[in-house]
Amino acid sequence: MLAIQNYLLPETLEEAYKALIEKRNNKILGGCGFLRMGSQKIGTAIDLSNLNLDFIAEGENIVEIGAMTTFRQVETSSVMKKYFDGILPKSVEHIVGVQLRNIVTVGATVYSRYGFSDFITALLCLEAKVVLHSGGEILLEEFLKNGVERDILIKIIIPKSNRRAVFKMMRNSKSDYAILNISVSKLDKDWKIVVGARPQRAEIAKEASSYLTNSNETVEEIEHAAMLAVNELTFGSNMRGSKEYRRSICKVLIKRAILEVLS
Ligand SMILES: Cc1cc2nc3c(=O)[nH]c(=O)nc-3n(C[C@H](O)[C@H](O)[C@H](O)COP(=O)(O)OP(=O)(O)OC[C@H]3O[C@@H](n4cnc5c(N)ncnc54)[C@H](O)[C@@H]3O)c2cc1C
Repeated sequence: MLAIQNYLLPETLEEAYKALIEKRNNKILGGCGFLRMGSQKIGTAIDLSNLNLDFIAEGENIVEIGAMTTFRQVETSSVMKKYFDGILPKSVEHIVGVQLRNIVTVGATVYSRYGFSDFITALLCLEAKVVLHSGGEILLEEFLKNGVERDILIKIIIPKSNRRAVFKMMRNSKSDYAILNISVSKLDKDWKIVVGARPQRAEIAKEASSYLTNSNETVEEIEHAAMLAVNELTFGSNMRGSKEYRRSICKVLIKRAILEVLS
């Protein structure tokens, strides 16, 4: 069972951060979807609910998503549906059920860098950045690779563009985690191919993306790009699927996603 000694509802981010770094067992609360499933003892539970971090805002050149925004807000937002072929709503709409999506938050998901995450895989093909209270602005790609010292994720920033994007995943049943998820995006000639839940966390297939960017986008070249992605990324086995199975479906999902972007 989750045990909480003290509860703090800070009025400022500075107050929240100070409390977070004060003691190792002090914790930020997101929607508590995962926290409540564990049995840890939290010293001070820091609730960000009063800090106005549940927003989706459209600026002149960017779209911003606050850390306390829920998956359901992402799913139903007209701004999110308008850009990038609605890849972000599409990446979360199948996760368990509306009740769960009403509580789980963008900030907790991205900060925790979950390997299985559908949302992170979709976000990574959009050149997104994360904004941390202490660490400032960092490219999501770098954040996923290196992580950071204890910090608070405040918001996500996505450059606004006409980037086309498609998300695909394979799962055994609706309420289970994905066996593999992928996202593919294209802006002008620039392609990005991302694969997550391998089961390791999402990564851009650099060689495959660059090959496709410099290709004529023929079916043979698309198949070759999918093959390059499978060869350059590492895959593993777990209870959901073997690495061989993941490699096989990866090729198929990438090809389908590229053809969908081009359609
Ligand atoms: C039953 C169940 C099934 C799920 N299935 C899927 C699935 O199929 N696909 C999928 O992609 N995801 C799935 N998820 C994960 C879900 O989408 C969220 O990623 C997860 O629940 C974490 O979000 P939360 O708001 O519940 O975080 P919490 O449980 O509140 O927090 C998780 C961690 O993040 C930290 N944290 C919270 N907010 C911040 C912040 N702003 N800055 C820094 N640290 C912070 C907390 O201290 C904690 O360590 C599932 C979750 C559950 C509970």
